[in-house]
Amino acid sequence: MNRGEIIEFLGGERDEELFTRSRSVKLATVGESVYLRGLIELSNVCAKNCLYCGIRLDNTSLDRYELTEREVMDSVRYAIGENYGSVVVQAGERTSERFVSFVESLLREITRVGEGRLGITISLGEQSAKTYARWKDAGAHRYLLRMESFTESLYEKIHPSDHSWSERLECLSVLKNLGYQLGTGVMIGLPFQTLENLADDLLALVALDVDMCGMGPYVEHSMAPLSAISSEYTPRDRALLTLRMVALLRIMMPDINIAATTALDAIDPVARARCLSVGANVIMPNISPFVVRGSYNLYQNKPTDTFDLSPYDIAYGEQGNSVHFKKRQKNPNQPF
Ligand code: SAH
Ligand code: SF4
Repeated sequence: MNRGEIIEFLGGERDEELFTRSRSVKLATVGESVYLRGLIELSNVCAKNCLYCGIRLDNTSLDRYELTEREVMDSVRYAIGENYGSVVVQAGERTSERFVSFVESLLREITRVGEGRLGITISLGEQSAKTYARWKDAGAHRYLLRMESFTESLYEKIHPSDHSWSERLECLSVLKNLGYQLGTGVMIGLPFQTLENLADDLLALVALDVDMCGMGPYVEHSMAPLSAISSEYTPRDRALLTLRMVALLRIMMPDINIAATTALDAIDPVARARCLSVGANVIMPNISPFVVRGSYNLYQNKPTDTFDLSPYDIAYGEQGNSVHFKKRQKNPNQPF
């Protein structure tokens, strides 16, 4: 698929053709099964100040929390009891030795309790190569680090000047070289974002040869400065654009894992089912303790309830590793 064609599809003139094609690619490659990753929101403490995010450092109106080891393990045991194949541990970004070693010991405990059957993904921001290696050694085998935008000038507009696009990109390279299953993604419908930018995001995902992708609509948060700048995309536009992005990516990277992200639910409750139908094959139900769910407020209207899984063909008990990753292991010399 070339850039011009991608931009045309993103423009929405050929939705029916796009969604029919992406659905048939999906059924022929990853099939109808949906893999579950139980999401544990470890902490909303964050050292960064991304201009779009509700848990950024400078939002002083928020109660900050960090789950105890016991709370995390209760969620892990819930996941195991419900026959989830994997968990994801996510948090605001912190790099102190205390935090790094806390995560390390948690990962060892999750690995022990999971008895090798539970997939472990982490999403803990930008860290040193040494930290990534320690966490891998402790049992994490997948990492989610969204690039947010692969267009450097757009990245700079949505982050303070001390955040670095190239350092984030470098983290993706380090993670991949360490042997993690690599997941990244972007926000869709940001202020200043063009269809050309989104097309370039898709092309970058292909060039990086990622194993997993989570991309979803940008949703304003009133305490985050970016909310003062209006996006030219309505919430409905953003949900539709997300469906088109997921469908295009499924066609371009048929065997990767693609998540139907929670932010989609904040806009349109039926969009998730659509997203799974046109290309996604992963969902991440929130299994954090109920008491903290309202505090992990990345964006407004973030759902806090546990959603109904009954409509989907859930692959219970399966880790659901990226088929793409498995193939890549057999051909490890591919360039990053
Ligand atoms: N601190 C880590 C992980 C937690 S944030 C990190 O930044 O990588 C996880 C993701 O939430 C971010 O990558 C971003 O894409 C998403 N996010 C944050 N604020 C958002 C918003 N206002 N709308 C939609 N997604 C948002
Ligand atoms: Fe922190 Fe992640 Fe939010 Fe940025 S997006 S402020 S790193 S939690």
